[in-house]
Order: sequence, then structure tokens, then C-alpha cells
Amino acid sequence: MGLKKATIIDGKEFSSRTNQSLLPDVKLIVEKIGRPPALAVILVGEDAASHVYVRNKIKQTKDAGMVSIEHQLSAETSEKTLLSLIDTLNKDDQIDGILVQLPLPKHINGNSVIQTINPEKDVDGFHVVNAGKLATGQKGLVPCTPLGCLLLLQNTIGDLSGLHAVIVGRSNIVGKPLAQLLLAENTSVTIVHSKTKNITEITSKADILIAAVGRAEIIKSNWIKPGACVIDVGINRIETQEKETGKYRIVGDVDFSQVKEKASFITPVPGGVGPMTISCLLRNTVIATAKRKGVEIRLK
Ligand code: NDP
Repeated sequence: MGLKKATIIDGKEFSSRTNQSLLPDVKLIVEKIGRPPALAVILVGEDAASHVYVRNKIKQTKDAGMVSIEHQLSAETSEKTLLSLIDTLNKDDQIDGILVQLPLPKHINGNSVIQTINPEKDVDGFHVVNAGKLATGQKGLVPCTPLGCLLLLQNTIGDLSGLHAVIVGRSNIVGKPLAQLLLAENTSVTIVHSKTKNITEITSKADILIAAVGRAEIIKSNWIKPGACVIDVGINRIETQEKETGKYRIVGDVDFSQVKEKASFITPVPGGVGPMTISCLLRNTVIATAKRKGVEIRLK
């Protein structure tokens, strides 16, 4: 008897439900403070993918009844100018969340820029204060993509306690914070990376496999335990044959057509983790507003 094909996890549908679930809290905040949560988005330079992400983030913020203020800066903007804008936004009581879209141009040190954001407004959850809180089990703002992965997993599997998760990738924005989130759910966690030996021996024991590598379709079916739940964070642009037209398609880090034959659940790319990242940004903006303004909301 052949293996059953994986159920495809619909990240878009879950994301729109997550956004809907924020509406009562947004309404409550408007009642209590006389205005909706406000997110400032800073975009430096012309990176095409960043422009698409920012457009989506702004649209969805507005759809959820919140305010989104875009600061579009040229690629030549100095670090000093950017830091001075962040300082203004930090001090502006009408701004609840600040997001600096990464990557930044090479002459700007992204890490030091992020550390100047007021941790209470750090809706990306990248500030060391928030990273430290996550690592030590305290309440703070949690990075959006890992949080999106966790919510997708809980919505798909339910209780994650006792399961073995393997995360491929150890970045500060995905792999490491996701490991912390899963540990807090009593999952056993292994992180593998580019220096790991015998990687498929480890990944093929995982009940949950999360790919955050940035290498198109690197994860083949021999990496997967039969019946595993596979979450693909990767976003890779593949040029199509008509190169001169500038057309491309987006694929994940997982070879979807192979792996869906072996896994029990799998996220597609696009339409899996990506939409949840934006939902978690909206979620964080609501949480940041409520905390700073002392409003008791339903969301925990
Ligand atoms: P990074 O480049 O920061 O990290 C990649 C990780 O993968 C590193 O830990 C690296 O190992 C590891 N790695 C690289 N090659 C291999 C290999 N051959 N075998 C095993 N591990 C390997 O990437 P990010 O974490 O920032 O992003 C990962 C992917 O997720 C990207 O495609 C990105 O576009 C996507 N992404 C998607 C988001 C979404 O909203 N859906 C949000 C954020 C990212 P080492 O540390 O040893 O170098």
C-alpha cells in the first residue's frame, strides 16, 4: 500500500482567520485610547522583494483597522539619518510599532540600527531585550516568522509536547527564536546548519521538520521521516526560461513535489509561512499598543 499524500497546510486561510481574530482587540484599543494601533514602516533603498513585502504589510495593517505610516528613504540615506528617524519615532507617542525592513543597504549596519528601536515598539522582535526575554521565558515581542510557524504547527497538530522538531538553519531571525518557542511548548529541538555532519540522518528522525535555509528545494524526500509535518520558511527566486523578460517563480527550501508524497502535512511556498509572518506582525502591533497604553486585551 502506498503512502498517503500530505495534507497541504493553507497558510493564507489561517492567516486571514488570525487577522480577523485581532479585530475585537483593535476595536477595544480604539475605545480606550481614541485611536487605532499605529505601525511605522521604514524602507531604505530599492530592493524589489522588500517593496512587495512592505506593500503587503501596509495593506493588511490597514485592512485590520490599524494605521500604517510608510517612510520610504533612498538607497543613499546615511545611517545617521536613519537613526534620527528611529529616534523621532521612538519618542512619538502616536506610534506603537516600528519596523525597519531588512536587508538594509551595505553601508548601514542593520544590527546596530535594530538595537536603537525602543524594545516596546520592536514589533519584529529582533532587539536583544526581546531576544533575551524569549530565551529566558519572559513575555516580550516575538519575531514574526517563527511565531507564524508555531501558530501554524499548533493549528495543524495541536499539542507539540514530546515531539521532536528539527530546524534546518540557525539565523537570529528564524532558526534560533523558533527553537526557543518550540522548547517553551515542551518540544525536543535539534538545530542543524551548514556545518552539521550526516544531516539527513538527523532530519529523517524529525516529527516536525522546519526548513529555514535559503537554498531552493534543497530538502528532498530522503531528509524526511514518513508522516512528518514539514514547514517550509524558505523564499527563493528561480529565474524562468524567458530570462530576458525578468520573470521568476518562487520556491521554498523543500522539494515540494517529492516531499508531499512522504510527509503528513506540508506548507506550500508561496501561501504557507509567508502570510503568517504578516499576521504575526499585526498581532505584535496590537500587543505592543496594548502593553504601552495599559489596555487589557483578549490576546495573550
Ligand atoms: P540565513 O541565511 O540567515 O540562514 C540560513 C541558515 O541555513 C544558516 O544557519 C546556514 O548555516 C543554513 N544553511 C545554509 N546552507 C545549508 C546547507 N546546505 N545545509 C544545512 N544548512 C544550511 O537565512 P534566514 O534564516 O534569514 O532565512 C532563511 C530562508 O527563509 C530564506 O529563504 C529567507 O528568504 C526565508 N525567510 C522567509 C520569511 C517568510 O516570511 N516566509 C521570513 C524570513 C526569512 P550556517 O549558519 O552554518 O551558515
